[in-house]
Amino acid sequence: MSWVELTAHELHEALKKKSVSAKELVNAFYARIESVEKGVRAYNTLTQKEALAQADRIDRAIARGETIGPLAGIPIALKDNLCIEGIRTTCSSKILDNYRPPYDATVVSHLKKAGAVFLGKTNMDEFAMGSSTENSAFEKTKNPWDLSRIPGGSSGGSAAAVAASEAAAALGSDTGGSIRQPAACCGVVGLKPTYGRVSRYGLVAFASSLDQIGPLTKDVTDTATLMNVIGGYDPSDSTSADLPMPDLTRALTRDVRGVRLGVPKEYFIEGMDPEVEASIGQAIETLKKLGAEVKEISLPHTEYAVATYYILATAEASSNLARYDGVRYGYRTPQARDLLEMYMKSRSEGFGPEVKRRIMLGTYALSSGYYDAYYKKAQQVRTLIKRDFDEAFKTVDVIVTPTAPTAAFRFGEKTADPLQMYLSDIFTISVNLAGIPAISLPGGFTKDGLPIGLQILGRAFDEERVLRVAYTYEQAAEFHKRRPSLS
Ligand code: GLN
Repeated sequence: MSWVELTAHELHEALKKKSVSAKELVNAFYARIESVEKGVRAYNTLTQKEALAQADRIDRAIARGETIGPLAGIPIALKDNLCIEGIRTTCSSKILDNYRPPYDATVVSHLKKAGAVFLGKTNMDEFAMGSSTENSAFEKTKNPWDLSRIPGGSSGGSAAAVAASEAAAALGSDTGGSIRQPAACCGVVGLKPTYGRVSRYGLVAFASSLDQIGPLTKDVTDTATLMNVIGGYDPSDSTSADLPMPDLTRALTRDVRGVRLGVPKEYFIEGMDPEVEASIGQAIETLKKLGAEVKEISLPHTEYAVATYYILATAEASSNLARYDGVRYGYRTPQARDLLEMYMKSRSEGFGPEVKRRIMLGTYALSSGYYDAYYKKAQQVRTLIKRDFDEAFKTVDVIVTPTAPTAAFRFGEKTADPLQMYLSDIFTISVNLAGIPAISLPGGFTKDGLPIGLQILGRAFDEERVLRVAYTYEQAAEFHKRRPSLS
């Protein structure tokens, strides 16, 4: 195997043993990018100069005999809604095409301190709104397992970069599934941490009560390692949880004996691909053989989750996106006769169709006269959905579901009908509404060779158990070892 195909923890061992230098790794990854990016198109921006400078700092530290941390010299990709000081951060939107943030996101400063090397910024659905990365104002990112299919979204660029070995690991953001669903489509691991576990400072806001940053990696061990670095309390984010961050790599024991595993009957629905259903069934059998106790549970308000999410997320987005007015930063129309026309044209020309649709839906849901019927009602149903989980977690420790009802679909298959696109989030959205953690990891393949995602949900701030169950399954099933063939 070449360097680029290894996990971050394997690369760390190689760096420690001096079998490779950080600079050689950077060069190997850019060579890989050079050879496959024409097909995959995972990146919006490459940051080769900065990457080489950071690698050089790490190599000098190694030469001085310093002990290096697990992410030092590891080449990582960042979703293009995470701010790095001075580096173009676009959210895949024309409105931020030339935006260079004056500060680092908290996760970025943590990673810099840990010595991670940033290869570039990855493509996404515009402002993270979408499930296929087709809403990017720039390129279409392709699924490395089948270039005629979507990589999932909205963190499609990050998932594709890891799957195509164009980065050892990546960060994404998840508001309604945007880490887990692309992880499932691309056959990698993706974790949405508990709301408040990872600081959102420096993440360009979509829906602030739902957004969380998390890792996309080649295996569960790398997810734990990245979480150790990016997680924890941050006073710069008022919703950050002031709780100690456990060492998640210590949770990775191969043991699920006695773990009570809930299978929600509402998640095995009509419209689910039979191959997905069969794979998840097998995964549950595997966990049972390893000693888990399997129990059917009920999450009765599941059927309202998609509607609730698309009211709350759009309402919050309509408010968050009001700041793009052409005045202080971002795109400004070159031709406006007065201030009002400048606002209107800047926004009309700067935003793409899905973002406009969301702003209109959200503004409608918040407008007086409709507020009680939509926004307020959705907040109440959100509480009911959260209570479903509180009830379930009285009798089980984790919940197992598919990540998405189908494997990766083809380009254009759902673009004409936004509702069909929204429905592909059916299994991921409730987790954000409830604020709990969930991981997606490879849980099988279709007969056409497309990855299928297995999702494991846990109690708030119980990432340890989620990762332990995921790790135990991963080590038994070994689906994470497959790599797409790209040349
Ligand atoms: N697909 C969902 C949406 O379009 C989730 C997006 C996300 O998690 N950022 O809103």
